Amino acid sequence: MKELEKKLHKHLKDRHWHQLRPADLAKSIMIEGAELLELFQWENLSLEEIKQNKEKVEEIKSELADVLIYAMEMSVLLGLDTEKLIRKKLAAVQKKYPAKLMRNTGDKEPGTESEYWRIKKEHRAHKK
Ligand SMILES: [Mg+2]
Repeated sequence: MKELEKKLHKHLKDRHWHQLRPADLAKSIMIEGAELLELFQWENLSLEEIKQNKEKVEEIKSELADVLIYAMEMSVLLGLDTEKLIRKKLAAVQKKYPAKLMRNTGDKEPGTESEYWRIKKEHRAHKK
């Protein structure tokens, strides 16, 4: 991760983009996220259906890379440790949504949705 962060920082510096404001990067993340979302407009393909569509996978790879690059550029320019922040957030999510409650038992449609929303609502209520 550190090597990729250094490469991104050089990429930004070489183009004098290292002075970008965090808001510019946040906007770019969302714009690229919208481009990623647009690939799914008017359809609701399953994971397997998408994997079998090589053209769609290539489009997804391109837009996903745009999102990831802008997100990582923000992290790099703010001097953050990208791996550390991802690991910290992942641990928080794992604690908030325990695997045993989220796991699809297979005997019903994904039963995780109601449990997910119950936890989310509970969490939001405690934030107020
Ligand atoms: Mg794009």
